[in-house]
Amino acid sequence: MDKSEIISILSLSKDDEMQAVFDKALSVKEKNIGRNVYLRGLIELSNICRKDCLYCGIRRSNANVMRYSLSHDEVIEAARFTDKAGFGSIVIQSGELLGDAFIDTLTSYVEEIHSLFPELLITLSCGEQTPEVYRRWFQAGAQRYLLRIESSNRELYSKIHPNDEFHSFDARIKALYDLRNEGYQVGTGVMIGLPWQTIDNLADDLLFFKDLDVDMIGMGPFIEHSETPLYAEREYLWPLKTRFEKSLLMIAALRILMPTINIASSTALESLDPLGRQKGLLAGANVVMPNVTPLYKKQNYRLYENKPGVHLDPSQSLQAISESIEGCGEHICYRNPGVPKHFIDRR
Ligand code: SAM
Repeated sequence: MDKSEIISILSLSKDDEMQAVFDKALSVKEKNIGRNVYLRGLIELSNICRKDCLYCGIRRSNANVMRYSLSHDEVIEAARFTDKAGFGSIVIQSGELLGDAFIDTLTSYVEEIHSLFPELLITLSCGEQTPEVYRRWFQAGAQRYLLRIESSNRELYSKIHPNDEFHSFDARIKALYDLRNEGYQVGTGVMIGLPWQTIDNLADDLLFFKDLDVDMIGMGPFIEHSETPLYAEREYLWPLKTRFEKSLLMIAALRILMPTINIASSTALESLDPLGRQKGLLAGANVVMPNVTPLYKKQNYRLYENKPGVHLDPSQSLQAISESIEGCGEHICYRNPGVPKHFIDRR
């Protein structure tokens, strides 16, 4: 697909035309990687963040957030739950922190999870770090890293972040290359329906993923949070329904463009539509990340408002999720880390 074809897919708005693209993406998925779904247990390790991203509910300047970091026992317990539930991997996500205390603590968690649960593939999503830190975490046992570029358009990136050295577009791009060099399976992604974002920008995002030759993508609708600066732009946003549809079209177009990568059906999709997760899978996604963070902490990790599942405990969310996935004809692969075929082929 060239850019004009991607733009024509992303511009669709009639139900039957969109459905035809979702069906095509589902058949591309089936042919290349099967209708298999991989589960990742998501731990939200800490909502303390050094960054001040203009869209994010846990940004440094939001004084209304009750800050937390999970304890050692909570992390190990969440990993134990993930392993026992038969998920192939665990994702440790966190607000972005630098400094030895955070880096050493996370290193020891990764080592311990790796030795206690050797079959659980460890994924990290802990922001921009130096190559040395990425290497340390890799040596400790992490194999995957998720770092969304948020928007691959430099100008748009600068409008949704403060313009200072802590929020540099170039540093984010460099981090993605550093991760690749350290041997990680690398994932990135964007938000869809950001203020000022155009269909042309979104098409470029997909071409950026292809160009970077990524292994995994997690992308979903932007959802405004009232305690962030971008809330002031809410009247210029696409309606939520449009953001939802464009997110599904992005997943479908990406599946057609990159048939063998892993694509997550994001939690943000579910917050716009109770069937959002299933619809993401039926548009070509193949990964779901149930939240395994202990209940009371989860309620303080609100990137956006109406985040779904924040009142469910992990076993309740798991049941709800597995029923909804199997109900739509997909097959959950338990005890399988779901290494992207794209990564295996590239190697
Ligand atoms: N600190 C890590 C990092 O920088 O990659 C991971 C945590 S960060 C909070 C996780 C992701 O949440 C971001 O990459 C962003 O895409 C998403 N996010 C934040 N605010 C959002 C919002 N208002 N709507 C939708 N997604 C949002």
